[in-house]
Amino acid sequence: MLQTRASILARYWYCAEECRLLFNGFESKPTEAKSRGDKIHKWLAQRPKTPTEIRLISKLEELKPFYRDYKGVRIFGTPDDYKVKRKKVALEEYKSVSGWGSVDFWEKFEYPCAEFQINTYHFIMQPILERLGYELKDLGYIYLFDRTGRFMRKYSVRFIESMYLADLDTVLAVVTGEMEPIPPKSFKCKICEFRGRGCRL
Ligand code: SF4
Repeated sequence: MLQTRASILARYWYCAEECRLLFNGFESKPTEAKSRGDKIHKWLAQRPKTPTEIRLISKLEELKPFYRDYKGVRIFGTPDDYKVKRKKVALEEYKSVSGWGSVDFWEKFEYPCAEFQINTYHFIMQPILERLGYELKDLGYIYLFDRTGRFMRKYSVRFIESMYLADLDTVLAVVTGEMEPIPPKSFKCKICEFRGRGCRL
């Protein structure tokens, strides 16, 4: 069975060819943005949790890694965080930018990736949480932070299964070679690490 991660499939919404390359084993180089994101994730993972959240997280730990199989592809993914009220769970995803000057760019070109990523986590986690007796809420949340970890914005994302699966079918068709990728806006290629290093477009 083919294997991939939610974060790789999400790159389709930035560039379909980049997504195809990552799906097929091309490695992305470490960047300042990635190390900033890692630091903020580690810091946020230490936030105080309620007893209900601690209970859920310890049950989930035993079931890791999380994945769901779909049309011959095993999709792995771990949400950044969970908000739990009684038996209802909302997924949370943390993203970061260098500062306010980058927010417009992020919202236009990176937000669609974050949205698809959290919806993929929803798709993966729904049956797992159901088995544990929890209900996954259709609404998930993306939090945007700056490089110092200061909160900037919160976005609500509604999971609609039929729309998500239609998008997932398209993404999988491209990454497995059934469908040709549509080229992205040309400015993306000027700053792309895959230019001349695997990209066919
Ligand atoms: S060079 Fe352009 S088309 Fe190729 S992977 Fe990068 S952004 Fe996508």
